[in-house]
Amino acid sequence: MGKKYFTLSFDDGLEQDKRVLALMKKYGLKGTFNLNSGMFGLQGEVKGIGTFSFQDCEAGVQHRWPFSYVPHNRIPKDEICEVYAGMEIATHGFLHEALGKVSESEMRSSVRKDKENLEQIAGTTIVGHAYASGSTSSAAEHYLKEQGYLYARAVFPSGNFEFPENPLNFRPSSSVIMKNSMKLAKDFIAAEPTDRDLLLFFWGHAYEMDYGKGAASWDSLERLFATISGHDDIVYCTNREAFLHI
Ligand SMILES: [Zn+2]
Repeated sequence: MGKKYFTLSFDDGLEQDKRVLALMKKYGLKGTFNLNSGMFGLQGEVKGIGTFSFQDCEAGVQHRWPFSYVPHNRIPKDEICEVYAGMEIATHGFLHEALGKVSESEMRSSVRKDKENLEQIAGTTIVGHAYASGSTSSAAEHYLKEQGYLYARAVFPSGNFEFPENPLNFRPSSSVIMKNSMKLAKDFIAAEPTDRDLLLFFWGHAYEMDYGKGAASWDSLERLFATISGHDDIVYCTNREAFLHI
C-alpha cells in the first residue's frame, strides 16, 4: 500500500515567509524555502508577477490589472538560520538566474555559489533546487545531478498527484494561489493510494498573499492549510523528505 505525501515550496526568501511559517507551524505542515544567497536583504516592491494573474479573480478580469504594489523585501542573511529552522532550505540561483537562458559557465557558477553559501549557513547539504522563472535546460539538469541534487522543481502545474518520472525537472501539483488549489487538496484527501505513493506538491511566493484577491490572500492560504492538515494517512514533509524515498 502506497503512502500520501504533502509538501510545500516557497521561493525567493521574502519577509512574508515568516507569516507563512507561522501558519505552517500552526497546522503542523512542513516544506522547503528556495533562497537566492546573492540577494539577501534586498528591498523592493512587486506587482502581479509570479504565479498570480488578473485572470485568477473576477475583479481582475474586469479591470485587467487592479493590483497594487506589495512589499518584496528579502530576509537578511543573519536571520536566515533562525527563520527557517525546522524546514528545508534549497537553492534558487545565486542571483535568481534563469538557468536555461544564461551561458553554461554562468549556470554552473549560479548553482555552485548558491549551494556553497547556503550549506555554510544551514550547516547541512543542500539537495534541492527550484528553477528561477521555471527556466531550465538539459545541461542544468545534468549539472544539478552531478552536484548531488535529489530534485529540482519547475513552475507550471501538473494538476496531479503523481511522483514525477524525472525528479530533476518536475512540475508541482499546483500553486497555493491557483483557483483549483482547494479542489486539489480535497481530491487528495479523498484519494486512495494503490501500490504507488501519491504526492501533493504546492508552491508559491509568500508576497502573493498580500494582494488579498481571490485565492491570493492570507485567509485563503489559512483555509487551504487547515483543510489539508491533520489527516492520519498523509505524511507532512519537506521536499527533500518526499523525494528521499524514491
Ligand atoms: Zn524566484
